[in-house]
Amino acid sequence: MGIEVRNITKTFGTFTALDDVSLSVATGELVALLGPSGSGKTTLLRIIAGLEQPNAGSGEIFFQDENVAHRAVGSRKVGFVFQHYALFRHMTVFENVAFGLRVRPRSVRPGRNLLKYKVLRLLKLVQLESMAHRYPHQLSGGQRQRVALARALAIEPKVLLLDEPFGALDARVRQELRQWLRRLHDDIHLTSVFVTHDQDEALELADRVLVMNEGRIEQIGTPDEVFHHPKTEFVVKFLGQVNFFHGRLDGGKVHFSTLAWESPEHAGAVSQPAHVFIRPHELDVDVQNDGHPSLKATVRRIHSAGPNVRLELIAQSGERIFAEMSQDRYRSLHISAGSTVYVTPRDVKVFADKS
Ligand code: ATP
Repeated sequence: MGIEVRNITKTFGTFTALDDVSLSVATGELVALLGPSGSGKTTLLRIIAGLEQPNAGSGEIFFQDENVAHRAVGSRKVGFVFQHYALFRHMTVFENVAFGLRVRPRSVRPGRNLLKYKVLRLLKLVQLESMAHRYPHQLSGGQRQRVALARALAIEPKVLLLDEPFGALDARVRQELRQWLRRLHDDIHLTSVFVTHDQDEALELADRVLVMNEGRIEQIGTPDEVFHHPKTEFVVKFLGQVNFFHGRLDGGKVHFSTLAWESPEHAGAVSQPAHVFIRPHELDVDVQNDGHPSLKATVRRIHSAGPNVRLELIAQSGERIFAEMSQDRYRSLHISAGSTVYVTPRDVKVFADKS
C-alpha cells in the first residue's frame, strides 16, 4: 500500500516542527527519513502513524486512495518498531509476538493452532524460532529488536514504520541488522518508512532517502542521487565528510584556493561568492605535477588502518584538505608525513553563496 503525505505542517506552540512537507512512498518501497536531531523525522513518522495530528487544515495523508487523516491509530493497520524494543518483560518471545493477535476482536482472532502457526512463521522469518520460550532479558539487543519487528509484523500491517530501530545497538550489531532488514524487506515487500540520523544506514538500506532539515525536506532521491547529485549545501555536508572552500564564480568558472574550475552550470551567473565542496575520494593525489591544474600541498598525517587510506594535507594556500585513496594507490605513491603532493579534483560541487 502506498503512502501519500500532502502539505503537512505541524507546530508545537510557536515552534514549527514540520513546514509544508509532502512525500509519496510507493507500494513496497523502503524510504529513510534522514536528518539531524530535531529536524522533524519522528514527528513526520508519528503523523503518518496517526499518533500525532498535523495542524488543523494543513494537509492530507492518504494510504493508497483513502484519506486517513481522521482514522485512529488502531484502524490504520500500521506496524511500529521503536528504538527501545519495549517488549513485555514478563512474556516469552512467543507471547510477545502473539500479543497483537490475542487482543484482536473475537471475530477476527485466530484460533489456537492458527495463532501458533502464525507466530512460529514470524519467528522463523526473524530467525528466532529456537528462542520462542526465552524472556526478553535472556536475549541480546539485536535479538530483542528482531522480536519487536516480528511483533509489529504479527498484526499483518499494511505499512511498517521504524523509528531509529537500531539506535540503541552497538556499531557491529547495527551493521548486521541493517543488512538483515534489507533482505527481509526484499522478501516481504512491505511499504516501510524508517527514521535515522545515520547517513550510512540510510544510504545502504533505503530505496529512497528523504533528507530533512529544520522541518523541511531538503531533497528526496535514491541513495545515488542524494549522494552524487546533492541539491543543497545542507545535503552535501550531511552526507559524509567533505572539503569546503570559499570561492568566487566568474565567467563560467569557480575560483578557489589556487584553482580555477570550469562550472558549466554557472556559465551565465554574475560574478559572485560561492561555496565549493569536494569529497575526499574525489581528489586525485600525485607526487608530480602532471600539468593538470592542481593544488600543491604537504602531507600532514596518514591514516592507513582501514579499507582505504585517508590523508590529511595542508595546501600551500593554507587550507586543510582530506583526501582518500585505495591502499594500492597509496603504496604506489611512496609518501610519508612531510611529502609534497599535487591534488587534482575530479568532481566539485558549487553553490552560489546566498548569505
Ligand atoms: P531526533 O533525531 O532527536 O529524534 P527528530 O528529527 O526525530 O529528532 P522530532 O522528534 O520530530 O525530531 O522533533 C522535531 C522538533 O519538534 C524538535 O525541536 C522537538 O523539540 C519538537 N517537538 C517534538 N515533539 C514536541 C512536543 N510534543 N512538544 C513540543 N515540541 C516538540
